[in-house]
Amino acid sequence: TAGPIGSSVIPIVNKLQDIFSQLGSSSTIDLPQVAVVGSQSSGKSSVLEALVGRDFLPRGTDICTRRPLVLQLVHWPRRADAAEGDEWGEFLHLPGRRFYDFSDIRKEIQAETDREAGGNKGVSDKQIRLKIFSPNVLNIALVDLPGITKVPVGDQPSDIESRIRTMITSYIKHETCIILAVSPANADLSNSDALQMARTVDPDGSRTIGVITKLDIMDRGTDARNFLMGKVIPLRLGYVGVVNRSQQDINQNRSIKEALANEESFFRSHPVYHGLSHCCGIPQLAKKLNQILVQHIRTVLPSLKSRINSQLVAVAKEHATYGDVAESKAGQGVRLLNILTKYCEAFSSMVEGKNEELSTA
Ligand code: GDP
Ligand code: MG
Repeated sequence: TAGPIGSSVIPIVNKLQDIFSQLGSSSTIDLPQVAVVGSQSSGKSSVLEALVGRDFLPRGTDICTRRPLVLQLVHWPRRADAAEGDEWGEFLHLPGRRFYDFSDIRKEIQAETDREAGGNKGVSDKQIRLKIFSPNVLNIALVDLPGITKVPVGDQPSDIESRIRTMITSYIKHETCIILAVSPANADLSNSDALQMARTVDPDGSRTIGVITKLDIMDRGTDARNFLMGKVIPLRLGYVGVVNRSQQDINQNRSIKEALANEESFFRSHPVYHGLSHCCGIPQLAKKLNQILVQHIRTVLPSLKSRINSQLVAVAKEHATYGDVAESKAGQGVRLLNILTKYCEAFSSMVEGKNEELSTA
């Protein structure tokens, strides 16, 4: 099964980025951002955590996410001398301080939320920026956003709903943003705030994935089958149903690993979802995202190649008069370009060859 988000494309993207840095080229693969939208407590933070595979976001039945959190995953090679572990977080507002304990990251997100938005349910559009360095991630940005809420509570202004909608729109309006539209299955799905908002910026659904949470707590006798199959509100990229940790699981410190095992057994034993395994479970969501990323890389490769090519030509011209030293430099560039060209070809044939995993390539 697919690992966390991006795992199957990590080797490819790393190899490409290696080649670019050897070339001294500023070219790089900009991967699309992924943002979660939905009503409050629909399970947005839970879905993001499960995709990253670590516990570090505030979650709960109350309003928890009160500022946009831009989470930049940074691929960082494993070090032999990494005494404190090879995965850590760093906040933009606390430069130089490494958080190796992920529960400290959650505490800092909460403290920093309070510093800006106050301790009484206030919401702010000022970002919290967090980088997670790890050998197991792809360079990609994920955005956790406050949920849509209708009735102001605590210090929230009377126009809280429209403020939050404006904030969310400022992220998801970008054509390169992949939208995870999160709707809880225990509310009326055809009334979903997430799908309604996604539709305003992505009317033909070309970059929206529908995520249906809380399948485990639907009304007895009902299920989300027709929704998952796209029969109610069709989306081009389709839907994935998931089961995250309940509040009780959170209170009992149940791990992500246990939660994934629990989800797997839920879907395996459920008479309805058993036959819909291609659109059920966090691993399927990760797989869908990986396929989108592969497609994206494939689309941008030709233009990257030609950009590097013209950079090389320019360098060769500029240094033509400098003699042997420059020649060897240009020669090195040409060699690297050849590697890149071969790599692009290999990549394309891998993608065409229906090899969905790509991980061992
Ligand atoms: P957010 O406000 O959209 O970020 O939602 P959270 O991720 O903070 O989750 C809100 C609450 O719903 C928490 O108490 C979670 O434990 C619970 N929750 C989220 N997803 C599920 C799910 O699939 N099943 C169950 N039973 N509870 C869930
Ligand atoms: Mg949240």
